Amino acid sequence: MSKPPEYVGRFAPSPTGPLHFGSLLAAVASRLEARRRGGRWLLRIEDIDPPRERPGAARRIVEALERYGFEWDGPVLYQRHSETSHRAALQRLLAASLAYPCGCSRRDLLDAPAGPLGRIYPGTCRKGKGKGKSSNAPEFAVRVLTDNSQTGFVDRLQGAQSQRLESESGDFVVLRRDGLIAYQLAVVVDDYEQNVTDVVRGIDLMDSTPRQIWLQRLLGYPTPSYAHIPVATNAAGIKLSKNTGALAVPMEAVEPTLISALKALRQSPPDTLAKAGIGEIWEWSFAHWDLQKLRGFRQLKPGGQATRSVPCGEFTE
Ligand code: GLU
Repeated sequence: MSKPPEYVGRFAPSPTGPLHFGSLLAAVASRLEARRRGGRWLLRIEDIDPPRERPGAARRIVEALERYGFEWDGPVLYQRHSETSHRAALQRLLAASLAYPCGCSRRDLLDAPAGPLGRIYPGTCRKGKGKGKSSNAPEFAVRVLTDNSQTGFVDRLQGAQSQRLESESGDFVVLRRDGLIAYQLAVVVDDYEQNVTDVVRGIDLMDSTPRQIWLQRLLGYPTPSYAHIPVATNAAGIKLSKNTGALAVPMEAVEPTLISALKALRQSPPDTLAKAGIGEIWEWSFAHWDLQKLRGFRQLKPGGQATRSVPCGEFTE
């Protein structure tokens, strides 16, 4: 029997803003799970979207992770350096007629039905870019062909998930009209090239997973295992994100914030840890981490004490 591949996990922030409490949770959970499984943990800065990037954010994210005592295996991967691999994967999809150029503008798609993942692409350019209303525009996107079979996976925390891509998202973009590689393709190529076996990340990305699995299948890549951790919300129940102006995690006296992260992740660190240094907090976490304490939860409030459980999928608490 062949040996199962070594566990490789990763944290992959986009430098569109500072490391905030919500992204700290994904960093802590992915690192601790990799550690508990005796695996490696990589840091990848997803800097392939310059229009959305904030100057200095990549450096500040790395500094914050260092300040909080994170240690990753190998050098930081800056995703823009893998552009050659991203473009090679795009060419493979095009050469195999699994993807096609699309001349439709956002305006052309205003009449398309809206689904939970955004506008559902009606397939206008499937039979040739000339069919798009804005086909004379110099820019075009590339979309990947989808069908209506169920694309599913069993999430380690959220249970069985599935989408019918053709009717739920339509053929989706792998090369944007502005010439940039789309997140869905970049993440799939980089997870493959870095031999990532296990993805632990925020539940806000769970909707993207079937599209990523779809691309993995087209490109002949293995599918990693996925665990989507609950999203952190503020006291008003609003998701903490760069879009909602979530604040950067503090850079001074970081220990209480790391302890809050562990509490939010439902790990119950003892009160005695309140006076501990960062190294000791990590040691406790390495010894006690249990991902399954998050099973079936979709939302968390910082501090853990006000956690609201929304059972979903096949799991209930
Ligand atoms: N870069 C993405 C983000 O910051 C996360 C990508 C991933 O974990 O797959 O939202």
